[in-house]
Amino acid sequence: MTTDAGSSRLTTAEQAALTSGGDFWHSSAVADLPKIILTDGPHGVRKQIADASQPGLLASEPATCFPPAVALGSTWDPDLVRRVGEALGEEARAMGVSVLLGPGINLKRSPLGGRNFEYYAEDPLLTGVLATEWVRGLQSRGVGASLKHFAVNSQETDRMRVSADVDERTLREMYLRAFQRVVQQAQPWTVMCSYNRINGVHASQDPWLLTTVLRDEWGFEGLVVSDWGAVVDRVAAVRAGLDLTMPGPDRAGDEALVRAVADGTLDPAALDTSAARMRALVERSVAALDPAASYDADAHHALAREAAGRGIVLLKNDGDLLPLPRQDITIAVIGEHARTPRFQGGGSSQMNPTRLDDALTAITALFDGPVRFAAGYTADGGGERLTAEAVDTARHADAAVVFIGTAQETEGADRDSLELPAAQLALVARVAAVNPNTIVVLSHGAVVLTSPWDRDVPALVEGWLLGQAGGGAIADVLFGIVNPSGRLTETIPLKLAHHPSHLDFPGEASHVRYGEGIHVGYRGFDAREQEVAYPFGFGLSYTSFSYGDATATADDGGIEVRVPVTNTGGRDGREVVQVYASLPGSRVRRAVRELKGFTSVAIAAGETADVVVRIDRDDLAYWDPSLRRWAVEGGDYLLAVGASSRDLRCSVTVKVDGDDTRVPLTAESTLGEWLSDPLGGQVLAQAFAAAAAQGGGGLIGMAADPQMFTLMAGVPLSRMAAFPGSPLTLEVIAQLVTAANP
Ligand code: BGC
Repeated sequence: MTTDAGSSRLTTAEQAALTSGGDFWHSSAVADLPKIILTDGPHGVRKQIADASQPGLLASEPATCFPPAVALGSTWDPDLVRRVGEALGEEARAMGVSVLLGPGINLKRSPLGGRNFEYYAEDPLLTGVLATEWVRGLQSRGVGASLKHFAVNSQETDRMRVSADVDERTLREMYLRAFQRVVQQAQPWTVMCSYNRINGVHASQDPWLLTTVLRDEWGFEGLVVSDWGAVVDRVAAVRAGLDLTMPGPDRAGDEALVRAVADGTLDPAALDTSAARMRALVERSVAALDPAASYDADAHHALAREAAGRGIVLLKNDGDLLPLPRQDITIAVIGEHARTPRFQGGGSSQMNPTRLDDALTAITALFDGPVRFAAGYTADGGGERLTAEAVDTARHADAAVVFIGTAQETEGADRDSLELPAAQLALVARVAAVNPNTIVVLSHGAVVLTSPWDRDVPALVEGWLLGQAGGGAIADVLFGIVNPSGRLTETIPLKLAHHPSHLDFPGEASHVRYGEGIHVGYRGFDAREQEVAYPFGFGLSYTSFSYGDATATADDGGIEVRVPVTNTGGRDGREVVQVYASLPGSRVRRAVRELKGFTSVAIAAGETADVVVRIDRDDLAYWDPSLRRWAVEGGDYLLAVGASSRDLRCSVTVKVDGDDTRVPLTAESTLGEWLSDPLGGQVLAQAFAAAAAQGGGGLIGMAADPQMFTLMAGVPLSRMAAFPGSPLTLEVIAQLVTAANP
């Protein structure tokens, strides 16, 4: 059978073959369409080595390992993220890769999430803004993005079966919101569905998710690809709107599709549409391929170093211990991670860097004088001999820089604790006891506990996983060549038990309840007035900034916030100005404050910048579960402007006109809802008055008594029809409903 839409001339069997992969990293070559390469992603290109003597799916050609999302996100800088996206696009193109499998934009729901290093933040606005620029940058070079993992893939435990059980408001406002933004603003060539189920339905075969929301509501024009192995039922997947099943070939699935079209259980138009989308993807990919394309590996390494330096977060710097002078002191570098860097996480994103800087070599290169090193521990743990050696090295130095971190974080497994290895913490305590100028540098992919041990050290540098140039970037920050401007994209709690997700992670019996609802991350800590180690948005600088008074104006498109920010210190620096909104007296449950806008600005020492932060009206909207749509509630919004979610320096109130959020009244609306609605209250009062005039006043009298009213306010009108002597018969209620909803 042939069909005549976009994938005309293809038989049903060819359409089926085209919509499953040719192998692990290629699409299928079918008829006139060649195969294209789709591969990971996201912080570097991992193109599998063709050489069969190199075993393993992950053995790959060298490419630049940029900072993974955990560090890139900490830059809070959309322009920088875009430049990284462009560089990735250039490398992918030079390697003949058409679709790079990223960015990963799942929300960091729990700090235990095994892939948190691949994701940006615990906040959907920050995630969405950064990922939009990543996609724009990549696609500007003729390489397609694959926005993943759609959706609610916030854990690794049981990831192929678990059902993320989430209410719709939380889904829309938290877990889908960044996807919506990137789709609408950057049109990624592809979206990758996730492995998990959402409210019981596999993402790979969820028509609501893949068609109603993604295409009908958001206007997605590209192709939906499965995560590798996410498709359970190929026919159901195509019917739901999934276009390409990876990896392949999937002969059994192809045959099932042909059978389903033949026996009428699958509308041929569904397969035809998917095949047409594949054709469009292949054609645009082929048009963009350029065998002569190349990239400048040195320039990309330099960009990787710049991005890594900008992602480092200075958490503590008592007595301005940092930056260190580049001469005239003695420095001890302690810790195996200084020599053997932890620079990326494990799993599908793991790639083969073009080169690898380590911090020890970089520090030695930038420092004019001797640098003494002691490993302090090994990958397998510590030991008294190693510790004693390290303590001795630290004792005789003016400053001791101790590198500690996690051993491994990988796709496929969540962590079970936020603790750093005990041997490394013991090492820090021993070093700090002999050297008051101890600086700790952390290397890890997701949040680790910093309390209470950080009290023992004057300086703490959050070094995440920084990619191949991270070693140099750490040295740049330690010596003040780069003035740190990274900010936390996730809260560092005092303990795991404080985390909003704690009681509902990772679920059991293949279900995980998103019990904290919209109160993800800092929203949950703020709602419960919980102390934290370091709040969302936090990060120090080697200079200081003061904020003037903020002003704000609202217009149809949103709000413009202006605030003068002065660099009051002696060094040029960069401030990340953050705007959080709240709506006191809101009629829906809201977070205490929500990030609504931010900007990263370079301000020279002594200078004042007039900072402008724009908030789109769409970002003020909440998902109204009764109306089942987005709505902006009108009112006086309080905008708090500051340097972190808990360091708010000034605020301003601005009035915003609301959307019409009237919920139609029905027989199931309560007496209270009727009376609080202007028109509903009026028609109901008229009905009561008419009934009273005819002597039917008992129920009305009760409703007029304040105490009885409290009792009755929650009674749906329809239920009142059954009350003895009620003037509200079902017929009367039906008339009232008509009158109240003109
Ligand atoms: C991961 C994806 C990745 C794909 C291909 C899956 O296991 O979840 O993120 O893109 O493999 O390697």
